[in-house]
Amino acid sequence: MGKHGDNGKISALGPARVEEGTVAGYLVDPGFLVEIPARTDTLTPAARSERMSRIRNKDTRPEMKVRHLVHGMGYRYRLHGADLPGKPDLVFSKRRKVIFVHGCFWHRHPDVGCKLARLPKSRLDFWRPKLENNRARDLENQKKLAMDGWRVLVLWECELRDAHSLRQRIRSFLEDE
Ligand SMILES: [Zn+2]
Repeated sequence: MGKHGDNGKISALGPARVEEGTVAGYLVDPGFLVEIPARTDTLTPAARSERMSRIRNKDTRPEMKVRHLVHGMGYRYRLHGADLPGKPDLVFSKRRKVIFVHGCFWHRHPDVGCKLARLPKSRLDFWRPKLENNRARDLENQKKLAMDGWRVLVLWECELRDAHSLRQRIRSFLEDE
């Protein structure tokens, strides 16, 4: 990897680089910013601030896709239920249901066929415990929600390609009594 300077390509950041073209959507979890600053030294303060605000932005592409889809289906929801375990991405309060949209890499999609969830080849000692912790925390949050009477649907990033089947899953989840 050479120096990427100010071209704004998040994929130049190194540690999170897994596969070309799949990375930009990953660098959105504020919990991982600790590893990034050393690699952004070439940025001007303004450029860095702009980049950081983009990285911190909670409206990641997979989540936006689901939100648009659900909205288009006529359902209304609130976002990032801060009062709920794990801050679910979409909250359907009256139905007492929540949807999480999980990035396969950060949340360790437990599907062996998922290419996005593959661990990086380097710094495995750093990534593996971090990502396993995420996974454990997700499961813990889902358990808490269930114990509180919430129904939980987890949509994985790699499952969002087929809008038709996605709609069906969402509809049957939301309509199921
Ligand atoms: Zn996946």
